[in-house]
Amino acid sequence: MASRAGIRLTHGRSPLLSASASSSRPPPVLCVPLSKPKPYRRHLFVPLCRPLALRSSPGPSSYRTGFSSPVSSMSSSSYEKELAAAKKAASLAARLCQTVQKALLKSDIQSKADKSPVTVADYGSQAIVSLVLKMELPSEKFSLVAEEDSADLQKDESQETLKRITDLVNDTFSSEGTYSISVSEEDVLAAIDSGKSDGGPHGRHWVLDPIDGTKGFVRGDQYAIALALLDEGRVVLGVLACPNLPFTSIANLDGHSSENQIGCLFSAQTGCGAYMQLLHEPSAAKISVCTTENPADASFFESYEAAHSLHDLSSAIAKKLGVQAPPVRIDSQAKYGALARGDGAIYLRFPHKGYREKIWDHAAGSIVVTEAGGIATDAAGNNLDFSKGRYLDLDTGIIVTNKKLMPSLLTAVQEAIREQTQSASHL
Ligand code: AMP
Ligand code: MG
Repeated sequence: MASRAGIRLTHGRSPLLSASASSSRPPPVLCVPLSKPKPYRRHLFVPLCRPLALRSSPGPSSYRTGFSSPVSSMSSSSYEKELAAAKKAASLAARLCQTVQKALLKSDIQSKADKSPVTVADYGSQAIVSLVLKMELPSEKFSLVAEEDSADLQKDESQETLKRITDLVNDTFSSEGTYSISVSEEDVLAAIDSGKSDGGPHGRHWVLDPIDGTKGFVRGDQYAIALALLDEGRVVLGVLACPNLPFTSIANLDGHSSENQIGCLFSAQTGCGAYMQLLHEPSAAKISVCTTENPADASFFESYEAAHSLHDLSSAIAKKLGVQAPPVRIDSQAKYGALARGDGAIYLRFPHKGYREKIWDHAAGSIVVTEAGGIATDAAGNNLDFSKGRYLDLDTGIIVTNKKLMPSLLTAVQEAIREQTQSASHL
């Protein structure tokens, strides 16, 4: 099936929207101005929240809720201290990434084969998150499941890169000013390697993607620093720092933006709702998903990269469901953030056969969406299970929407997958 037209959200300093006629080549830039700011409900502060009881799995019985292990400490503890630490860590890591991306775009290195600045930012972000969490939560046992490790950095030819990362980490700490520390190259290696945990169903584990959407980062588009905490196998808090995501809704393409504020920090704690604030600013607003039941009003998100998700399958599902808007293609878990604040109603993700999803690509995003009133499942309707280690065991793909739309979305997904399988077997 032919690919539908798509909308791509480009990077923050030049927040243009562009339409793509094909999923395989970069779309021409249309320069459509962003819409008027959507009136997110603002609070001057994020209220403290202490869940009083275990929450049951949400969702109608028409789809399976395959995972329901309890959080041992939930009736007696909340995660305010951990959430505050996570927000500090992700925000500081975002500063480092912003510095690197600025230099990356200036040097126009996107056209070169040299990926080193990306590597520097990935490692630097992971080191900062690890160091900040340890400084903020010194009395807690520390376990981190994260994407990077230092094996390549230990090689002789990487000495210069390691020095660059260490300088970046120290410059970020000193320019921000909260922590008066100076770290050595050995400290940086150790901080990165503390992310080697396997996670699992017991105890607490931080889950980090230091730069989610690396391809978007290199292109100058969207990316996210995604950090979550697992407790007894369940995600109990999540933070998404999205340095290039406009603060205002990206839903409407016909309005004019009176403000040009870029950079969002999404956060959520189990049972306490989801919030968004400007990155590096203190006041947060409660957010909620779009509650439309009518697919004709629902736009959907998918990966910008066709290699990461089957655009043709998403297109078939959207058609079956009666979605009329073209897909909005954005890199990274910024998709979860945008959906959580109601910019669109559906996120569809169908990796090519054989790909195994990692927990750091969905842990933070999924709690931000579910605490905003949404629901994230695999293509069979099973809740996402983060308790199995570094990978998610999934049936076919990931779908996210509001609770009213989920039953019809699941039906459309399953029909489209069945038809695709049948037509493949006839070839
Ligand atoms: P997205 O921004 O939605 O394209 O997702 C970005 C994430 O997709 C990256 O952080 C990778 O971890 C993950 N990824 C990498 N390769 C693949 C692949 N072949 N299929 C699906 N996801 C992938
Ligand atoms: Mg990722």
